[in-house]
Amino acid sequence: MSTAGATMVMTVTDYKSSAKPIWCPGCGDFGVLNGIYRAMTSLQLDPDQTVIVSGIGCSSRLPYFIKSYGFHSVHGRALPVATGVKLANPELTVVVVGGDGDGFSIGGGHIPHTAAENVDLTYIVMDNAIYGLTKGQPSPTSPLNFVTNASPYGLQKDPLNPVAMAITYGTSFVASGYSAQAKELGELILRGMKHRGFSLINVQSPCPTFNHDITYDTVGERVKPVPPEHDPTDRIAALRLAFDSQHVYTGVLYTNDRPTFEDKVRALNERASARPAPTIDAYFERYV
Ligand code: SF4
Repeated sequence: MSTAGATMVMTVTDYKSSAKPIWCPGCGDFGVLNGIYRAMTSLQLDPDQTVIVSGIGCSSRLPYFIKSYGFHSVHGRALPVATGVKLANPELTVVVVGGDGDGFSIGGGHIPHTAAENVDLTYIVMDNAIYGLTKGQPSPTSPLNFVTNASPYGLQKDPLNPVAMAITYGTSFVASGYSAQAKELGELILRGMKHRGFSLINVQSPCPTFNHDITYDTVGERVKPVPPEHDPTDRIAALRLAFDSQHVYTGVLYTNDRPTFEDKVRALNERASARPAPTIDAYFERYV
C-alpha cells in the first residue's frame, strides 16, 4: 500500500496473499489471476468488502492467492454459494471463479437461474477445454474427436459454446477474453465488476500440461477483438459473433440493463413489511 498525501492507494502487491500459486508453469490461470489483481487495483476494492468464491478444479484454487475473503466451495456449486453471500450482504463485491468443467458441466444448471435472477456477481470462467486437476478428461468445451485417456478413440460429442449459451440465457453482461492478453483481460474484468447484474466472462486459459490441442498457438490464431462497430445491446448480432466458428471474439459481446436480484428482493421486502402481519386467529380462520 502506498500513500499519496493522506490517501492510501492500493497497489497490485497489496492484493496478493502470502500463498503462492501452485499451477503448472505456463498455465493460463496465471493470466486470469493477474487480470483480477489489475481490476481490483483499478477499482481500489477494499479487501474486507470483497469475496472470491470458487468451485473445485485447478482454477478454483484462485481465492487462496488473493488478499480478500474467499470460499473454496463444492464442485459446481460456486454460483449458489455466491448468490447466498450477495443476498446476505449486498454491499459486498462478489466474484466467482472456476473452470469450464466445474461451471458448465457439474454446475451448468445454475447458470440459467443466476442469469434470469440477474444476481450482481462477476463470474470468471477459466476455459481450458479439459479437466486438469483430475489429469485430463474431456470437458463440456472439448472439441469433437478430442483424444484423451478417457476418450482414446476421440470424443463423440460436439463442444458447448458457453458465450452463445450465456447470451441465450439473457445474462446481463457477456464477455470473452484470453489469458495471454493481460491488459485487455484486466480491463474486461474491470468492466464486468463495474456492471450491476450477472456478468459472465469466459476466458481462454490454456492448460499446457494436459491439453495439447488447444494451445497458446491455436488460441492465438483464433482470437480477434470484437469489431468496434458491434452494438452489445443487439442480442442477435452478439450471437452471430459467438457462433463464428473461425474466431473467438474478445471483448464485450452482449449487455442488457435491468434490475438486479438484490434490487427485486429489497423491493419485495419493503412490500412485505408494509403489509400488516396477520394475527394467529386470522390465520386459522382461513381453514374454518
Ligand atoms: Fe493449469 Fe493444466 Fe496444470 Fe491444472 S493441470 S494447473 S489447468 S496447466
